[in-house]
Amino acid sequence: MPQRSSNQLGVTTLEDISALILQSHDLTETLRNIVTLVAKRMGTEVCSIYLIEEDGETLRLRASKGLSRRAVGKVALKIGEGLTGLAAEQRRVVAIQEPQSHPRYRYFKETGEERFHSFLGIPLFDRKTPIGVIAIQTKATRQFSSEEISALSTIAFQVSSIVVNARLLDSIRLKEEETSRFARELEQTRKSFLNDSRPAGEVREKALRGRVAYPGVVSGLAHVMDEKLGFTDILDEAGVDVGKERERLEAALEKTRIQTIFLEKRVAERLSQDDAAIFHTHLMILEDRGVLEKIHREIDSGHSAPYALKKIFGDYIDAFKRMEDPYLRERAADMEDIGRRLLANLAGQESHVLHLKGPGILVAREILPSDMAALDHEQIRGIVTEAGEQNSHAVIMAKSLGIPALVAVRGALKEVVPDENLILDANSGYLYVAPTQRVIEEYHRLEEDCSREQHKLEEFREQQGRTSDGIRVVLRANIGLISDIDVALRNGANGVGLYRTEFPYMTRASFPDRDEQYHLYRRVVEGFGGQPVTIRTLDIGGDKALPYFSPPREENPFMGWRSVRVSLDNRDIFRTQIEAILMAGQHGPVKMLFPMISSLEEIRACKAVIAEARANLRREGVGFAEEIPLGVMIEVPAAVMLAPQLALEVDFFALGTNDLIQYMLAADRNNPLVNKYYDPLHPAVLGALRQVTRVAKKLEKGLCLCGEMGSDPITFLALVGMGIREFSMPSPFIPRTKALLKTISAREARRASKEILAMADSQQIRAYLQRELKKSG
Ligand code: PEP
Ligand code: MG
Repeated sequence: MPQRSSNQLGVTTLEDISALILQSHDLTETLRNIVTLVAKRMGTEVCSIYLIEEDGETLRLRASKGLSRRAVGKVALKIGEGLTGLAAEQRRVVAIQEPQSHPRYRYFKETGEERFHSFLGIPLFDRKTPIGVIAIQTKATRQFSSEEISALSTIAFQVSSIVVNARLLDSIRLKEEETSRFARELEQTRKSFLNDSRPAGEVREKALRGRVAYPGVVSGLAHVMDEKLGFTDILDEAGVDVGKERERLEAALEKTRIQTIFLEKRVAERLSQDDAAIFHTHLMILEDRGVLEKIHREIDSGHSAPYALKKIFGDYIDAFKRMEDPYLRERAADMEDIGRRLLANLAGQESHVLHLKGPGILVAREILPSDMAALDHEQIRGIVTEAGEQNSHAVIMAKSLGIPALVAVRGALKEVVPDENLILDANSGYLYVAPTQRVIEEYHRLEEDCSREQHKLEEFREQQGRTSDGIRVVLRANIGLISDIDVALRNGANGVGLYRTEFPYMTRASFPDRDEQYHLYRRVVEGFGGQPVTIRTLDIGGDKALPYFSPPREENPFMGWRSVRVSLDNRDIFRTQIEAILMAGQHGPVKMLFPMISSLEEIRACKAVIAEARANLRREGVGFAEEIPLGVMIEVPAAVMLAPQLALEVDFFALGTNDLIQYMLAADRNNPLVNKYYDPLHPAVLGALRQVTRVAKKLEKGLCLCGEMGSDPITFLALVGMGIREFSMPSPFIPRTKALLKTISAREARRASKEILAMADSQQIRAYLQRELKKSG
């Protein structure tokens, strides 16, 4: 074998393997390249990789340098069979001379193996589970040194992670293919709908359709929020001018530092100092000498600045992701965020977040929590996203800020050019790109109507919600961010009916500690000056993920490990949050709400954690509110059935209709394909709501409906008719709901509700309610 220390051999081979991965297109090609490289570097005639199949029992030859090509993909052995199988079975290195004389030796005709006189096999692992074996063989009899074994072990470790990642990517790719097939079908349906139902020539070609998230009509220039450049977009450039690349890097670093300081300041103002701390970490990374030296070294060896950045940040991200310590693992997200911003600056991409030059319509694929925190809300007149989740951050932000928004607008990023004229008609669900003069005039008129209506609503802000026959209906706000407090107060909310605490968790780099949470909750409680604030415990999972808390991959996340289930399985995190809520309770009327309760055992388990939290605070001598009303979300059908029993455990119910509808009707709340099944007026849903309302009334428990169905006039009428007297909704809906209430008589609504509860057809119900609403004007 070539004279080279095996340590050096391991390291250079690892580097080369990294490079090979970049050149390969799929796992098969990567493995083929690896075996060729390893055989060459180790000076062996054969290097082969066997992977364990899905059955967990069969090892199949997946790549080989030296064995017959025909054997690849064909030769398969059971774990324990042959020397390769022995390495997998016993999970250990197998180094043998004259393998043919070993009792476990097995001959495969296809490979032509008899010529080889030494064998070294090392198992590959995914965590602790064997996933394959890498083996080398030589023609000459050779005793592998411990250094060679150690070098091949290091390589085996890297090959393992390549295989695991590639399998992961494959499964993601499969899912993506499936999704895009659905998307194509959907697009077809949409196209035929557009062609069928619209008079020819009424709109230009570039009229894109979407789903209304918050209504209104606005026009303005497009602020296109490009996706931040990804590391995979960068290719290597050869023969670069080292001096120039270093200068480019310096300029980008400087720009990114300034942006980061700016972001830190802005988030501190809009959210809190604690939320802004993440950007401080980013600044430290930008100043870190170790990181910078490595990037310089890459440039000095002839690579372009973007490539050097990709390489070094990529290495750090991988390394962090592999860490055992969860804190260090979380740093991968920081590296990724800052790396992407640096790349964008290197490539001369304008940062969408920082340069909204004037008011306009934001067009994005999706808006992430950190974007949401940093965006200049004042400049955003409308929001258009390609992503379509009803409950995405963009939707929730748009609603709470009262910004007209359209989601699920396919092709928006492709069709819209920055600074192009747009009309966003979030009443009928259309985005007009570069509209004709005729369309512009028509929409100016609509826009004026809209702002006149807005003006008219001002007077309702300060009034109490009352029906025309004088029945009080309390309208509270759904909030998630500190900036929502102002919006809620401006819209005349009676406190908070639902504080989604997952939002502050989402905008951070790690779990906030007890004090951070306490200060945040305290700010909210004090912000509402004596009005009640219902704080819901963490409701992650489903479609709400935390960047630093990787949930297990689940076939069906909405039916999976989400919400209170996650909290109860992470008792420390749960207790910490409860302690913070109890502490905030000293500063105003706080209620505590548990999401997704489906059994009595769960609410009892939550109460046990409250008892622990109290005992803890008492032991520490920390002040807290002794009496805090407790509530459960009724959002799972089981909770509807168990309402009388649950009522004995708590003080109030919160009707979470967003989830209740999806679970009752088996229709994913975010899936456009089953949108027509997601029907708030389905007789079964109305029956369930009626049932819960009755239980609450009979057992004298509080009841607040906080799902989106409370802000739709038609469903609102039915709910008031059922006797619901407390609603929590996105703040901008509050004044218009008060205005609506003025036109509704509680007596008439009760009569209407009786009528519809006797109907079995939701279309009939809808038509009936529509007529009733019209009658009341
Ligand atoms: C609901 O499910 O109706 C609800 C209010 O909670 P979320 O939308 O946060 O799931
Ligand atoms: Mg819910």
